[in-house]
Amino acid sequence: MAEPDEPPRTTPPAPPCPICGKPAEPAFRPFCSGRCADVDLQRWLSGRYAIPTGEQGPGDDDPEA
Ligand SMILES: [Zn+2]
Repeated sequence: MAEPDEPPRTTPPAPPCPICGKPAEPAFRPFCSGRCADVDLQRWLSGRYAIPTGEQGPGDDDPEA
């Protein structure tokens, strides 16, 4: 006997491209294209290199500790 609250067997929709919001392509997920993937990479690298030194204070302690 099937239960009345059985969830649908449909595949969940892929999350949209975080760059432009278009549906992501499996080949480039989570992006919609290699271009958006490159844009995200550039943003990531820019943000990483843009971190000013000394913002977390002296020492090499883990800020999340
Ligand atoms: Zn995109």
